[in-house]
Parts: sequence; structure tokens; C-alpha cells
Amino acid sequence: MNILMFGPNGSGKGTQGAILKGKFKLPHIESGAIFRENIGKGTELGAKAKEYIDRGDLVPDDITIPMILDRLKQDDCKEGWLLDGFPRNKTQAIKLDEALKTASLGLDVVVEVLLDREIAKNRIMGRRLCVNDNNHPNNIFIDAIKPDGDKCRVCGGDLTERADDQDEGAIGKRHGIYYDSDTGTLASSYYFKDLAEKEGKIKYIILDGAPSVPEVTADLMSKL
Ligand code: AMP
Repeated sequence: MNILMFGPNGSGKGTQGAILKGKFKLPHIESGAIFRENIGKGTELGAKAKEYIDRGDLVPDDITIPMILDRLKQDDCKEGWLLDGFPRNKTQAIKLDEALKTASLGLDVVVEVLLDREIAKNRIMGRRLCVNDNNHPNNIFIDAIKPDGDKCRVCGGDLTERADDQDEGAIGKRHGIYYDSDTGTLASSYYFKDLAEKEGKIKYIILDGAPSVPEVTADLMSKL
């Protein structure tokens, strides 16, 4: 099963993605997490990506596209994958579609989480990252996933913040890219929505991201 997740930063896309990953036993390929891992390890890729990420800009396509297309060719992706954070613009969508067609692979499900921009911004600023597992959801502004004091609600690990989550200018830029339906991320989700309508092979699921995490999950499960 090959799944694509769309949703503005702060929409709960990562949280729902982690649930799908567990349900279908898929590798969760998160472009932003791959960059952060490389920054943490001090790799050349990380050094190149950091300046863009800190500003809230997209890392250039000539770095991001091969990185993701190569990742999808690795052994753990043979039985399927869940891709989150890519594609982020129309060029990336077209390149992904071409690469899948070349490899005779198809998309099974595309999930689009809808959320108002202001709500998404507040959620981003409340987000906390568990040092033990990126997929442990913690947010000081969302009751269902509130940390346990200053520790991870899942494992009790220490929590950190992403620098780009606390910078309103960077958040504004990231959302500007997401909500741009001409060339940005919405343009890339509409690209796959059109394909789903034309080719009839992709299940395109739209979720309202405003309700609580369990409610959004229930909606997702009922539409899968
Ligand atoms: P995220 O964790 O998805 O919020 O991504 C964090 C940052 O990584 C983004 O603000 C971008 O700078 C960069 N990034 C993640 N995915 C992509 C992508 N598909 N294309 C370009 N840059 C990306």
C-alpha cells in the first residue's frame, strides 16, 4: 500500500500518519524528519538544508527530489510506504508521478487534512518533539496529546522544540507555501486529486483536521 499525506504544518498530518504507519506496517517517510536527522548528524546534506529550513523556505528541488525518490527505492519500501511532507510543490508532484509510473508503481491512498491557517499556526507553536521517538505526539495546546508535565506523554522522554516552530515569520512562510494552490503544496495535492478523478485508481480522502485526534482518526478509518 502506497500512501501520500497532505495537510498544513500543524494539521495533525504527522499524528494521523503515525497511526496509519502502525495499522499498515509501513515505513513512514517524512521529508522534514530526514532533513532534521541529517542536520543532527552533521552531514553535508544537513548543512545544505539547514539554512532553508531555519528560514521556513523549501529546500531546493535538486536536493529534495532525488533524496526522496532514492529513499523510496530502498528495501523497506518494497511492500509500500507512507510519504509525508513530499511533494510540497507542483514540480515535486509531477516528478513523483513520473517516477512511480516509470517504476510501475501506483498510489493507493491520498489523504488531505484540511485546517484553517490560524488554528494551524497555534498548533505548531504548541508542538513538542520527543527525543526518543519523532512519532510520539505531544502538543501543549491540544488536550488529547498534552505532555506529561515537561515529559513525553508516551514514553516519559525529554521534549524539545523545533526552532522553526517558534518563529512566526518562518511559520508564515511555510503556510504561504502550503496554501498556495497555483504552484505550492495545495497545487500538488490537487494534481493527485485530478489523477484520482481521471484514472480512478487512487482513493482520495479529505479529512477535517479541526476535531480532536481520536475523532479525526475515526473519520480517517471510516473513509479508508
Ligand atoms: P516539516 O517537518 O514537514 O515541517 O519540514 C520542515 C522543513 O523541511 C520545511 O519547512 C522545509 O524547509 C523542509 N522540507 C520538508 N519537506 C520538503 C520538501 N518536500 N521540499 C522542500 N523542502 C522540504
